[in-house]
Amino acid sequence: MTNNVDRLALFGGPMAVTDAPGDLFTWPIVTQEDEEAALDVLRRGAMSGTDVTMQFESDFKEWLKCDYALGFNNGTASLQAAMFGCGVGIGDEVICPSVTYWASGAPAYSLGATVAFADIDPVSLCLDPNDLERLIGERTKAIVVVHYFGHPADMDPIMAVADKYNLKVIEDVSHAQGGVYKGRKLGTIGHVGAMSLMAGKSLAVGEAGMLVTNDREIYERALAFGHYERYNNDIRSDSLKPFVGLPLGGAKHRMHQLSSAVGRVQLRHYEARQAEIRRAMNYFWDLLEDVPGLRAHRTTQGSDSLMGGWYAAHGHYVPEELGGLSVSRFCEAVRAEGVQDCVPGCNLPLHTHPLFQEADVYRHGRPTRIANAARDVRTLDANLPVSAGIAARVYAIPWFKHDRREAIERYALAFRKAALNYKELLEGDAGNPSTMGGWNMFNRK
Ligand SMILES: *Cc1c(COP(=O)(O)O)cnc(C)c1O
Repeated sequence: MTNNVDRLALFGGPMAVTDAPGDLFTWPIVTQEDEEAALDVLRRGAMSGTDVTMQFESDFKEWLKCDYALGFNNGTASLQAAMFGCGVGIGDEVICPSVTYWASGAPAYSLGATVAFADIDPVSLCLDPNDLERLIGERTKAIVVVHYFGHPADMDPIMAVADKYNLKVIEDVSHAQGGVYKGRKLGTIGHVGAMSLMAGKSLAVGEAGMLVTNDREIYERALAFGHYERYNNDIRSDSLKPFVGLPLGGAKHRMHQLSSAVGRVQLRHYEARQAEIRRAMNYFWDLLEDVPGLRAHRTTQGSDSLMGGWYAAHGHYVPEELGGLSVSRFCEAVRAEGVQDCVPGCNLPLHTHPLFQEADVYRHGRPTRIANAARDVRTLDANLPVSAGIAARVYAIPWFKHDRREAIERYALAFRKAALNYKELLEGDAGNPSTMGGWNMFNRK
């Protein structure tokens, strides 16, 4: 690609991307196979059954090579059940990265537990293993690890700390289904994996979630919490046997079988589609390798590690290499080139939300975050510098679903133009707004 960059579209030059994207970003890919699977459930009147869901669970077990898989109505419920499965209860603490979707941590409240927020690693954007030990207290029970935007978290040192302190590790795989860390599939490295399969995620099924584990006790507890019709005499755990028939959590977590039916079809094609996404995304980043200010967010953990689906793909921004140009001004220029998806920031740091500071959800007469806690975990929030500042250093990039080289080159050109013309953009740069990103990845502009 030439270094002779055209005039920026923002200043009247030609746009880098002019063609309509067609199905370049369409996800999930729905074919007649999905439609027929869904129709079969409808015609059999099997929407609320479990036969298809249990087949989907079998497929999942085979795919991830794990002993147990349990379907859920959504990812949030699977995370709550994973926490309950790990024995999280009144007064316990769960460690969770501050930069993630709220459901990685918030379900702890409903179990009478609380959240201690960990900082993220500035490169992987996942939980920083070096920030764990400072957060561990008498009542720490579990660590929730998020493979953020598809990037595998550094699991080896996280598991080492968990072993040392006898903590459970819950992998939130909502962003990274099919990702691999040093030869091991994400979700199968910690004690339990839980994930969303909602329609916006990499493995997109509809409203659905999945819990996976090799630990029978965790599986049975997760099942007992919200799967009443399956909480029957097959239960082996002595502590659970006396209560069969009704859900311990007073919850109903069954997956809708339209989701499981579509899920079975989606999973059958997932590895092949994911491989194409990987080729496309890696090509995009390879094209930008030499551009100052821009860095790929992709695994450098070796050839036996892989990004999982590239959910909500983002890039790193290094303003120091672009004369201090704000990421919001940079994104404005990229959008003007015809790339609507280029927005600054990511998930806002959860520790700054009032839900984790003052909200008294259950009328304890004090903030829920400390209602049952042995200590004020809010004081630990003061030391989360990467989480607090990350929004100024990341931006969303196009999430290609097809490896179409010519189109990808045009998108990459938009980013290249904006970065190489940074000096022009500095004039009129009002700086970043006080908040960038959002509490979720919807409607973020
Ligand atoms: C989407 C998401 C969830 C929640 O899943 P739902 O299916 O929306 O309930 C949990 N954790 C992360 C990191 C997510 O992105």
